[in-house]
Amino acid sequence: MRRIIPTLVIQGGAGGLIKDKRRRLKIRKKMAGILDRGYKKLLSANAIAAVTWVTRLLENDPEFNAGRGAMLQADGKARLSAAVMDGARSRFAGVINIEGIRNPVLVARSLLEESSRILAGPEARRWAVDAGFETGATRTARSIRLWEKKSSAGSDTVGAVALDAFGQLASATSTGGRGYECPGRVSDSPMPAATYATDYCAISATGHGEEIIEAALAVRIAQRAADMNSLKQAFRKTFSEVSARKGYMGAIGLNRLGHVVIQTTTPSLLYGWQQGKFRKLF
Ligand code: ASP
Repeated sequence: MRRIIPTLVIQGGAGGLIKDKRRRLKIRKKMAGILDRGYKKLLSANAIAAVTWVTRLLENDPEFNAGRGAMLQADGKARLSAAVMDGARSRFAGVINIEGIRNPVLVARSLLEESSRILAGPEARRWAVDAGFETGATRTARSIRLWEKKSSAGSDTVGAVALDAFGQLASATSTGGRGYECPGRVSDSPMPAATYATDYCAISATGHGEEIIEAALAVRIAQRAADMNSLKQAFRKTFSEVSARKGYMGAIGLNRLGHVVIQTTTPSLLYGWQQGKFRKLF
């Protein structure tokens, strides 16, 4: 029987090139450290636990547009969204526009075991508070500065896909949204368009949420990958369609054979992946 090598891919968003070399190196170093810790977790846990864990680490880092460093909507409030999907069970769960909860991905992971698996707004917050999840401010000097500039750069969303030693796949994505958007706007991240996993592959997407939703990006790639028996071909075909429509998006993907595919129409996509001793960073 073929030995499975656990594989972890993380992303820190698609967007403009980080022109400042020092900042680029700083983000790269941060992602390397997070990848390291995430991979260690994956070696002793299953895929869904590993993607949740590593996405939580990314949420805790104020450099990224999720959790602690989330962009603010036009009214100055951070509304956070996250989702997880367990490919082994074909189960999806998510939280939409939750406020004042440190780690929305942990709430999404917890909802995976419930019959109502997607919660939104104040009710999602109430559920999370009752369940004992950590509360706290999710505005930083950086997110306030960007808000003051009315920035809707819409990048730095985070996510991960993993293949564990049992051959199971999972995906997670977490975001603060595009920034300075209409209050209440819902991102693609807590939808299967951006967060999707089956027993064949797992995908996490980033970029312009509306376009990702219209393309049903992650589901489209996953369905094609299964039909074509090739994740690479599925990415290629889907991104050729997306590019033809001038879509602004990127995605990380992984299949049950451990093939990793990363593609984007944006100037850059921050990613890192590890498979045994092999490691690659953007
Ligand atoms: N997809 C996110 C959104 O549109 C933004 C991002 O990926 O950075 O809300």
